[in-house]
Amino acid sequence: MQKKRIAIFGSTGSIGTQALDVIRANTDLFEVEILTAQSNDELLIKQALEFKPNAVVIGDETRYQKVKDALDKTLVKVFAGEKALEEVADFDSYDMMLAGIVGFAGLKPTMKAVEKGKAVGLANKETLVVAGDLVMQKAIEKRAPIIPVDSEHSAIFQCLVGETRNRIEKIILTASGGPFLGKKPNYLVNVKRDHALQHPNWSMGAKISIDSATLMNKGLEMIEAKWLFNLQPEQIQVLVHPQSIIHSMVQFEDGSVKAQMGLPDMKLPIQYAMAFPQRIKTDFPRLDFRKYPSLTFEDPDVKTFRNLALATEALFKAGNMPCVLNAANEIAVWAFLRNRIGFLDMTAMVEKTMEKISFIEKPTMQEYFDSDGEARNFAASLINL
Ligand code: NAD
Ligand code: MG
Repeated sequence: MQKKRIAIFGSTGSIGTQALDVIRANTDLFEVEILTAQSNDELLIKQALEFKPNAVVIGDETRYQKVKDALDKTLVKVFAGEKALEEVADFDSYDMMLAGIVGFAGLKPTMKAVEKGKAVGLANKETLVVAGDLVMQKAIEKRAPIIPVDSEHSAIFQCLVGETRNRIEKIILTASGGPFLGKKPNYLVNVKRDHALQHPNWSMGAKISIDSATLMNKGLEMIEAKWLFNLQPEQIQVLVHPQSIIHSMVQFEDGSVKAQMGLPDMKLPIQYAMAFPQRIKTDFPRLDFRKYPSLTFEDPDVKTFRNLALATEALFKAGNMPCVLNAANEIAVWAFLRNRIGFLDMTAMVEKTMEKISFIEKPTMQEYFDSDGEARNFAASLINL
């Protein structure tokens, strides 16, 4: 059998390194064709020496020479800069893109892969939040399979296998609730970055960790789910489930509910996406139900975690609103991680930006880029330090 050639975009991140763990454990099934990183040149070099891809991209052009020199004695082609991401995404030589870049930056290369009709293992949820209509439309046109890596969406995808003719009544996206579950605004106002970065059940990159603490992550996931599964906003329910054992559920028209369960480990949805429709045997620890005698569920506290309410508003409003929400949120998280603004200021920044930027009902790709830029500029102008 031919090995599947994987292009890992964002190979130095939490998703990217775990995808490489999966490949390392399954060299009979996969090989690495492309690796990309923004600034971690040391790790990119190490990965390239181990996996011997056809090409690597370092986003930060000032680091090009270092990567080039380090890989001089190999056959690995070295590229640098934002444009190069799209150029390598345009290569014929890979079978699947693992889209593991964080944020809006993932949109262009991912769209390029879709335009090529490549299979995409999608971790980069921001791609669908920003331009889900255009990306999914293109995926259908080019018959490019988009297989979710986000654990909730992988769960739903797994629940839907064999159900193609059956209508979904609703989906239930589970949320851990993050590190501040049960806290109120008088507590959150003083929360600092290091505390917010501590997630109870998952170890992830900085941006998604903060998004999980504010519940913005769940809001982005609602929008991601709408596009992946072609749902109406009313069909998407969020339930807080602090044990993170049920990764999400689908309710069908007969009232039957399917859930996908397991111990929280991102390697599972990553390898499911990479090997789909097959499952790969692992020796990961197994779920022992006796250790989880109570699985609990509650409504999210959207009065305290207002980011989830804002994201729900953007989901219903649609057009460029999710794009604006996402851009303002990226600036807000960036500023919070640098101790420039407080925890609750992130919500205020997103809310003001959503009020400010003009609404476009059916944006073109260029209008999405413009909305993103305008929203970023406006949000940044609110950082008064
Ligand atoms: P991370 O910060 O750990 O890694 C991000 C990767 O993207 C790095 O390789 C980095 O070099 C690259 N990158 C960052 N900025 C870039 C830019 N401007 N241009 C090009 N490359 C850039 O992030 P992560 O936690 O691995 O998350 C990646 C994506 O997967 C996010 O969209 C996140 O929401 C999603 N996701 C992550 C997890 C998780 O467990 N980490 C779970 C579900 C979904
Ligand atoms: Mg998730």
